[in-house]
Amino acid sequence: MKHAKEYLDKVRGEEVIEIEETIIVQSSSDPFKKYTLTKVDGNWLCECVGFQIRGKCSHSREASKNDK
Ligand SMILES: [Zn+2]
Repeated sequence: MKHAKEYLDKVRGEEVIEIEETIIVQSSSDPFKKYTLTKVDGNWLCECVGFQIRGKCSHSREASKNDK
């Protein structure tokens, strides 16, 4: 989980107060690619390009679908 920790450190460097949960999801287009999603204030943040551009992506949607 080295990668996830690095990502969290990056997030913590910004103005994020509370990180509730982190998951790794596998890319559907590239089986060798994985994305780290971090749950902050009830919202899933993804590291993929699509999320950076649009603020949402299939990974964050899937992650929030699993929330109960
Ligand atoms: Zn994503």
